Amino acid sequence: MKISIMGTGYVGLSTGVGFAKKGNSVLCFDIVREIVDKINRREPTFYEPMIEDALKEVVSKGLLKATAYLNYAVLNSDITFVCVPTPSQKDGSLDVSYIEKASVSLGKALKGKDYHVVAVKSTVLPETTGNVVLPTLEKHSGKKCGRDFGLCMNPEFLREGSALTDFLKPHRVIIGEFDKKSGDILERLYKDFDCPVLRTDIKTAEMIKYVSNAFLATKISFSNEIGNVCKRMGVDVYEVMRGVGLDRRISPDFLDAGIGFGGSCFPKDVDAIISKAKTLGESPIIMESVIELNRNQPLRMIDLLKKRINIKDKRVCILGLAFKPGTDDVREAPSAVIVDRLLKEGAAVNAYDPKAMEKFRDRYPQITYFNSAREALKNADACLILTEWDEFRNLSENDFNLMNKKVVIEGRKILDREKVQGFEGICW
Ligand code: NAD
Repeated sequence: MKISIMGTGYVGLSTGVGFAKKGNSVLCFDIVREIVDKINRREPTFYEPMIEDALKEVVSKGLLKATAYLNYAVLNSDITFVCVPTPSQKDGSLDVSYIEKASVSLGKALKGKDYHVVAVKSTVLPETTGNVVLPTLEKHSGKKCGRDFGLCMNPEFLREGSALTDFLKPHRVIIGEFDKKSGDILERLYKDFDCPVLRTDIKTAEMIKYVSNAFLATKISFSNEIGNVCKRMGVDVYEVMRGVGLDRRISPDFLDAGIGFGGSCFPKDVDAIISKAKTLGESPIIMESVIELNRNQPLRMIDLLKKRINIKDKRVCILGLAFKPGTDDVREAPSAVIVDRLLKEGAAVNAYDPKAMEKFRDRYPQITYFNSAREALKNADACLILTEWDEFRNLSENDFNLMNKKVVIEGRKILDREKVQGFEGICW
């Protein structure tokens, strides 16, 4: 099929590359010219395993190209996937301004087009597709939804760090459809994906995405709370959760205690559903606790550190800035909360991350960046490990002996007690 993508960031590019790998013809559109040019030069605009090679492959086969012209992308495709950002506003509610602007441009582009399917992939609260996207498309195209163009909501569940694999091997595909014709077209597009396809209405599809993220975030905060209690009791939370996860009703995923969740999705999506619930007169106490626990969890690293050293005027080495391994994404990363606090309390910061330093440096030019973990450890008075990058697993006693004082605290369980002595973990 011929597909266009509107908004070629983490989700848009992974979606475009994924559909192109399946043999579809893909046109990627973005409002940022630099992104368009980079994609045509076969260079991804972010780090994500497998994307670079896959992008090279699909561009050289002529299956994917980027354009700065939305009309061209729409006229030369049958479906447009909307993958623009849906950030939070200051009060936690959903900012639909990107979706609104995208719908205006897309509506105008639909004017010159026969039946075309619009599929919203951005994460949006129930009623956003129906109450914002639909009327805006109709207003600016002069066309009728369900007759002249189709509308679906097709939430995306990929995880950064394994985006392409997740996209190509999803656990399920959810198609929320306004009209049956557009639902049929989307289902045909996904026909050789080996997973269940659930067809439903648009509001339900929108809600499925939020509930999935809120539930996963809840699992993480729950595990962190249990981890905090286990640490005080001298019980190994990882061993506990191994036993707990063997129960098929629970599953072993998302039970690893640590410094909490970050990234561009869980914090903002849970905030948005909380905010929506409150406007409806509900008190979403579980989800509010999930966020509160997650806000405080990274600061436990500072509390543990202060029990060991007086941090003022000390040099603290941070290993890992990305919110998780396999990505350079630092949006809502716990590392930012920790660095903010360290700087506020008068510490100097050495930092190293295999992929995320460039993005972190934009926000924190005042800290010192190094090209390796060993260099960052040299002369540090303490070390905090915040991302479970594989290369940190190989650090040994010798590496930590480069420090002034060997105070090492893990926010993610990664070090091997056989290879490194004397470290402690946030929950272990
Ligand atoms: P992103 O910021 O990486 O990318 C968004 C892109 O959209 C940017 O390149 C931006 O330039 C472009 N854009 C903005 N307005 C545009 C417009 N009017 N026309 C064309 N392009 C426009 O965002 P992302 O992380 O890919 O997230 C996109 C959506 O997908 C969000 O709703 C997010 O919640 C959801 N989502 C994200 C993930 C994830 O892991 N990142 C996973 C599932 C769902």
